Amino acid sequence: MDKIVMSAMAFFGYHGVFPEENKLGQRYIVDAELVLPLSNAGRNDDLAETINYAEAYELIKGIVEGPPFKLIEALAEKLADALLERYPELSEVAIRVTKPNPPFAIYFAGVTVEIKRRRPVEACISLGSNLGDRMDYLERAIRLLDQHPNVSVLRRSAVYETDPVGYTDQGPFLNMAVAVKTDLTAEELLAFMLETEQVLGRVREIRFGPRTLDLDLILYGKEIKGTPQLTVPHPRMGERAFVLIPLAEIVADDAVPGIDSLAERLKHLEGKDGVRIWIA
Ligand code: ADP
Ligand code: MG
Repeated sequence: MDKIVMSAMAFFGYHGVFPEENKLGQRYIVDAELVLPLSNAGRNDDLAETINYAEAYELIKGIVEGPPFKLIEALAEKLADALLERYPELSEVAIRVTKPNPPFAIYFAGVTVEIKRRRPVEACISLGSNLGDRMDYLERAIRLLDQHPNVSVLRRSAVYETDPVGYTDQGPFLNMAVAVKTDLTAEELLAFMLETEQVLGRVREIRFGPRTLDLDLILYGKEIKGTPQLTVPHPRMGERAFVLIPLAEIVADDAVPGIDSLAERLKHLEGKDGVRIWIA
């Protein structure tokens, strides 16, 4: 990934938990790494295609020399937030804040807080269960997702009971979809989903066979990627009524790359009869 690295910017500020820090102030050293694509700027030699670092410097200076925080953790968080908000082209920022002369009567070479923050993405997950107390598995899965510190559940669809497709010698599924906000990468999110399947007792025996819980990553923003470990949008979603029907309830009509209109696709989709609204 390309990045702009702004090193050892020196400021004077008044952050700290001790009153003398707020009164006397001290030096702060800030490093910022701004992750964004730079090839257009490089090819076209054009400032408009990159971030003007003189301007980013002013934004950082305004915060470090502005109203005091108790903690440099809070200062770093504020810097990351402000940069991600000001520059939509940034996918990630890393911030280091150093107090080179902390107010203690001992010598050490300063104290540094370092954080990395990614721009949160909206992702969609489809859930299915056809063993045991199906609704309870879905509810527990949603709770586990929401309890992850980097995932929050934004919206959930209705629940549908659906006839199995592919391997048909098994009971009907309950299916639904949720939209989440996350700053995990797609790979990290999927890894957590697979772990959640395990925690909730999934045993992989027959492909497409019965399972207590199946979690599929349907969308990760508008990202398109295809590796065997992770393909988004999910490769089989376009033909699966049990995925598209709940999904269409929780995302915009044009949310799926490769499908212009979910409503149009649903009009012509086969297998809709096998998907019925489910009331507990
Ligand atoms: P299915 O959900 O099609 O019935 P499984 O859940 O058994 O199949 O298969 C999951 C495997 O597929 C995982 O090991 C995972 O790495 C891979 N995979 C690739 N892309 C995705 C995705 N978008 N969502 C979930 N699993 C995916
Ligand atoms: Mg799956």
